[in-house]
Amino acid sequence: TTGFTPAQTSQWVDGFIATVERAEPELTDLDRRSGDGDFGTNMTTALRRTRDALVRNPPRDLGDPFETMSTTFLSYSGGTSGPLFGMWFREFAKAARGGEEFGVGELTEATANGLATIQRLGSAKVGDRTMVDAIAPAAEALERARSDGADLAGAVDAALEAAQRGAKGTSELLGRKGRSSYVGEAALGAADPGALTIALFFQAARVVVGR
Ligand code: ADP
Ligand code: MG
Ligand code: MG
Repeated sequence: TTGFTPAQTSQWVDGFIATVERAEPELTDLDRRSGDGDFGTNMTTALRRTRDALVRNPPRDLGDPFETMSTTFLSYSGGTSGPLFGMWFREFAKAARGGEEFGVGELTEATANGLATIQRLGSAKVGDRTMVDAIAPAAEALERARSDGADLAGAVDAALEAAQRGAKGTSELLGRKGRSSYVGEAALGAADPGALTIALFFQAARVVVGR
């Protein structure tokens, strides 16, 4: 395939919800070590509402699953990460809107715009120990994949690998933004849960288009 079909963006979002729910205890524990311990609860609360909203209003086009998730995060989630994720998913909805398929171009555009929006709102740079440390390398990997003419599975793989590497790397960083900046060295050894969640988002995409 050259792009995610509407059924596949739907599977992607459903898979993401399920994966994050499974990872909830680990994500919460990481936030306990690097922040205040509410990350997993913040995420699962919003994701459960997303699932309810998707049941009430089943997605009808390519962007609907992202749109629903975005709206839910923007309206209901607590914590710093909620609105940031809401804006991240919004860029996926925007890139998908009106299209038949969500291909390498849309994926690259959504990720680049998501990075720009999150940095505009939260002003975190690479190395500050936030979700930006997973998004920025994924955005770079996607630009490269697109200019190399990679197919969809190749591009998703590249983004996933870059996001995972970036997320793992946060365990060696001192926080400079958000609550982890109050924790200092105590956070060393624990990865940033927001960055890991971005990696889980690309992992859910990988499951859908995996070779
Ligand atoms: P809170 O810190 O308010 O309890 P959450 O626990 O919901 O919020 O979210 C914490 C996550 O938010 C972190 O793991 C980090 O990835 C992300 N984060 C915090 N501050 C920023 C920021 N300025 N820019 C981008 N992401 C951030
Ligand atoms: Mg927290
Ligand atoms: Mg909090």
